Amino acid sequence: MKLASRVGQVTPSLTLAIDSKAKAMKAEGIDVCSFSAGEPDFDTPQHVKDAAKLALDQGKTRYGPAAGEPKLRDAIAKKLQNDNHLNYQRENIIVTNGGKHSLFNLMLALIEPGDEVIIPAPFWLSYPEMVKIAGGTPVIVNTTQASGYKITPDQLRQTITPQTKLFVLNSPSNPTGMVYSPDEIRALAEVVIESDILVVSDEIYEKILYDGAEHLSIGAVSEEAFKRTIISNGFAKAYSMTGWRVGYLAGPLELIKATITIQSHATSNVCTFAQYGAIAALENSQDFVQQMLDAFIGRRKFILERISTIPNLSCPKPDGAFYVFIDISKTGMTSIDFCKELLEKQNVAAVPGVAFGADQCIRLSYATDMTTIETGLDRLDKFVRSL
Ligand code: GLU
Repeated sequence: MKLASRVGQVTPSLTLAIDSKAKAMKAEGIDVCSFSAGEPDFDTPQHVKDAAKLALDQGKTRYGPAAGEPKLRDAIAKKLQNDNHLNYQRENIIVTNGGKHSLFNLMLALIEPGDEVIIPAPFWLSYPEMVKIAGGTPVIVNTTQASGYKITPDQLRQTITPQTKLFVLNSPSNPTGMVYSPDEIRALAEVVIESDILVVSDEIYEKILYDGAEHLSIGAVSEEAFKRTIISNGFAKAYSMTGWRVGYLAGPLELIKATITIQSHATSNVCTFAQYGAIAALENSQDFVQQMLDAFIGRRKFILERISTIPNLSCPKPDGAFYVFIDISKTGMTSIDFCKELLEKQNVAAVPGVAFGADQCIRLSYATDMTTIETGLDRLDKFVRSL
C-alpha cells in the first residue's frame, strides 16, 4: 500500500505511546511508577460530573452546532474576558476535541506549503508534527537552560522571514515549566506586531503557577497584539478532565469561521453532554483548581529537593505547569537510551527529551500521587548511581 507522503514525515506521539505502555504494564500487575503523560491524577470535580449526568438525563445526546454549544461558547468568552482581559464574542470561539485538536484545526485552517511556523525548543512534541501535517515548515529555535529555556525577542526577530506566518508561544511551558514574565511577553508582542505575523498562545497550563509567577496573555498586551493573537486552551489540565476531550480556540472571526468549516467535516460537535460538564467547570466555584495547585506545590518542592541529591542530574525550578525537565547530559546517555533502561531496569516511565527537541533532557510529570513520586525518585536515584 502506498500511504500519503505526509505520513512519512510525522512521528507518533511519544507521550501517548509511553503512557499507554506504562498503563499496559500496570494492567499486567507490574509495579510501574509512571511520570509519563501530563495527566492530573485527581478525579474530575463532582459538580462537573453531575452536570454531564444531568445533561445525559435531559436528552443532550444529539448533534449540536459544529462550533460548540452556544452556552459554552458564551461561558468561554466570559472567562477570557474576566481572566485574561481578552474581548472575544461567542463567534470568535470554537469548541474542540481537546486543546490538541484546537491547535490541529488552527494549523489546517492557516498553514500551507511554503509557510514557516516558528517554534521555540524545547517544545510540546505535537506542534512541529501538526505543522508538517498541514504542509508547512516548522522552524525550530533552540533555547538553553541558561536563558531559562525562553526565546528572546532578538532570536524571534532574527528567525522571521517573509514566509513566517505563525509563532507558537506556550507559557507556562510543557515540557520545561518555564513562564514568561509579563515584561517578556510585552517584548515578544512588539516583535509580533512590527513583523506583522500571527501568534498562537497555548495557555493550557495558565492556572498552574508557582511562587507568584504571573500569566499574561499576549493578546492582552495591546489592540495591535490582540488582532494577531489566537488563543488555545482547554479543560483537561485545570479541571482534571483529560478524557473528556473539551478544548477551545479563540481568535479573529475569519479564522475561527474557517476552523468551524473544517471541524464540520471532520468531527462535527464535541460530545454534547461533555460540553455541559465544561460549562459547569467554568460557571461554578474554582476551589478545585486551588486544591490541585496546593498538591502540586508540595510535590514540586519534594521532587526538586530529591533531584538535587541525585548525582549527575540537574533541573531548573519550574514556575508553572507540572513537569520537571531534567538535564541528564552528565550521564553521557541519549534520552531514549536513558528512558528505555530506566523503564526496563527500574519500572519507571519518563519521556525522552528528544521528543521535545532536547536530547540532553528527560521529562517527569508530577501530576501523579506522592507515593509514586517518592518510590519513583528512589528508583531513579538507584538507576543513575548504577550507571
Ligand atoms: N499534553 C500532555 C503531555 O504532554 C498529554 C499527552 C499529549 O497529548 O501529548 O504529556
